[in-house]
Amino acid sequence: MNQKYYFKCTDCGKIYQNNEVSYLCSACETANDDKHPPRGVLKTLYHYDEIREKYGRNVLFKSLSDSAFIDLLPVQSIDSMGYLRVGQTPLYAINKLDGDSLDFTLYLKDDAQNPTASFKDRASVLVSAFAKENNIDTIAAASTGNAGSSLAGICASQQQKAIIFVPATAPLAKLTQILMYGAVIIPVDGNYDAAFDLSIKASKHFGWYNRNTAYNPLTIEGKKTVSFELFAQLQQGIPDRIFVPVGDGVIISGVYKGFEDLLQLGIIDKMPVIVAIQAEGSKNVIENLSTDNWKTIPSTTIADSISVDIPRNFYMTKDYLLKYKGEWLTVTDDEIIDSSAILSKNTGIFSEPASCAAFAGMLKYKKLNKFEKLSKNVVLLTGSGLKDLKAVSSLIKIPAAIPATIEAVIKLLYT
Ligand SMILES: *Cc1c(COP(=O)(O)O)cnc(C)c1O
Repeated sequence: MNQKYYFKCTDCGKIYQNNEVSYLCSACETANDDKHPPRGVLKTLYHYDEIREKYGRNVLFKSLSDSAFIDLLPVQSIDSMGYLRVGQTPLYAINKLDGDSLDFTLYLKDDAQNPTASFKDRASVLVSAFAKENNIDTIAAASTGNAGSSLAGICASQQQKAIIFVPATAPLAKLTQILMYGAVIIPVDGNYDAAFDLSIKASKHFGWYNRNTAYNPLTIEGKKTVSFELFAQLQQGIPDRIFVPVGDGVIISGVYKGFEDLLQLGIIDKMPVIVAIQAEGSKNVIENLSTDNWKTIPSTTIADSISVDIPRNFYMTKDYLLKYKGEWLTVTDDEIIDSSAILSKNTGIFSEPASCAAFAGMLKYKKLNKFEKLSKNVVLLTGSGLKDLKAVSSLIKIPAAIPATIEAVIKLLYT
């Protein structure tokens, strides 16, 4: 057994050694049904005092900036993660939008620059590394598209088999990626939630390892690496605010968990304010934050990656947002599409709708003058715009072809 980490149930607080359980807390799992978010998602914990003693503060800083902080990951060796460069994505400081200078700093963390063009690679690579160290060769996942294309790509690089359950409506580019990477694809006649439940049943039936978001606690651990990177990229500092798109609530919990690890180690002394952004047409996390009677509103939004009826990490997300005084807001599909154009034209970064939702949330804050002067605000851009061209088709019109003459160019440009 790898002694360096253990699990704690988000709901009942039960502690598990890491060889005792792989997915949900077994005490809480039995009460779950398919109408409510699952209870019993596990948080991965480390022996923080020992880590602190082992390194001392300065060395900890340095290892974090090397982005190879193996003591805070539930695998034995960085080498198990294979050769694809996951994470270490750029953080851009933007000082102008639509010609106006900004009086706060806007940072864009471009996680579309991961190998399969989405943030999901951070989770997939850790799950894949764990499988490799434990001689598991088949990994299954349910996905709205990105988790599946990510797992398929990472598994292709690691000589592992991937089996991906998707709702039949997933965008074509994401389905194409899954097949090009050689994974087995299982389209499910139903929504993401139906694909999710079926993938778990099938994993149990066939004995596959399962990467489903939140269900597998390592997905949260993989996603937390973005916070270590932000800390290093901001010269060992934390931003004032981070805008995060929220579907199942695993990315946002990962962001919190990364900073929480740093808090536990005494490397930082406060949490940044994290702003959860959901689509107005799929706001099941936000709508249920202040009630104990769970209610699902069926989702309809252009932002397929955050279109979720039953958020799989609702309770951990709720705990984090309330404990660390997070904020939240929704954006409409129109706002998402408009923000997509603003983002692309101003920055050269073309993002998919879910990712633009976070940017749209930032624009809403700006409109409301909610940014303190000189504050540092990060927008997490989670997926490439090339993954869903249909979503922005209403914004573009490709001109008809012209004869190959200068006169025709003049006519096209000036008449
Ligand atoms: C999965 C995903 C999200 C949302 O992450 P959750 O963990 O489901 O909240 C946001 N943006 C993109 C591009 C994604 O693929």
